[in-house]
Amino acid sequence: MKIIYLFLTLFLVSPFFSTSQTGETTPIKLDKISDNLYQIFGGRGANGGMYIGDNEVLIIDSKMDKTSVDGIYEAVKKITNKPISILVNTHSDGDHINGNQYFPESVTIIGHENCRKEFLLPQRDGSASIWQSSEMLRFVPKVTFNDKMRIHLGSKTIELYYFGVGHTTGDIVLYFPDEKTAFIGDQVFFGRPQLIHSYKGGNSFEHVKTTQKMLAAVNAEKFCSGHAEIKFRMDMENHIKEITAFQQKIKTMVNSGKTMEETKSAFEQNEARLVESVYNEIKAMKQ
Ligand SMILES: [Zn+2]
Repeated sequence: MKIIYLFLTLFLVSPFFSTSQTGETTPIKLDKISDNLYQIFGGRGANGGMYIGDNEVLIIDSKMDKTSVDGIYEAVKKITNKPISILVNTHSDGDHINGNQYFPESVTIIGHENCRKEFLLPQRDGSASIWQSSEMLRFVPKVTFNDKMRIHLGSKTIELYYFGVGHTTGDIVLYFPDEKTAFIGDQVFFGRPQLIHSYKGGNSFEHVKTTQKMLAAVNAEKFCSGHAEIKFRMDMENHIKEITAFQQKIKTMVNSGKTMEETKSAFEQNEARLVESVYNEIKAMKQ
């Protein structure tokens, strides 16, 4: 009986079981959005994407290990003979970038200027970045941009945008005008609390502004993100409403003198990290 109880407890609390996209390896699967644009599911790490240009292929995010990258290559080969020439990192989190090192060096890696900086920051536990050695620096984004960039793959154009700080300081949007589809990395989480990496400079209040800017600037109908199925404009707007209400509730608690622990206890357990970020941001704004 005790063993069963222990197992159930482990099952309920262990992140291994609850985050299948980062904890388990499933076969790579390409889901078609158009003849040119696909979402990449499976493998170890976050969802990514593939775009077939006139003569070459662009990949969005690299997952976490060699098996996943080999799987991406195999899956792409089944659809097109065109070579993969560009890899775009939506931001600097491990489940989107660790696979960079398994791409051939001939592939050009692109990311935001701040994303490149975050590659080289110490890790959350304070240890040095694994990307600092000259061997690994080859797989850190080689081409970076600040506000906007276009990639022309023959007759096709992809628009890259930066709308500001949020989940991290270097999250970008890839917009595919023909498909009216945006790949937004982890800028918005659905069905689980938003992750804000405060230790990288992420900020929940900036996240709201950045997401609003994104919705105003990009005419996307579909939104592909790192840890969810395709979402729509309405889902994005709902997310903004929900996180704004979440922040407001914490603001009220801070104003009435509640401690961090008291505030956390008014929320679900899995929201503790977001409560901590928002609480600290509100305290910092008051100073
Ligand atoms: Zn992320």
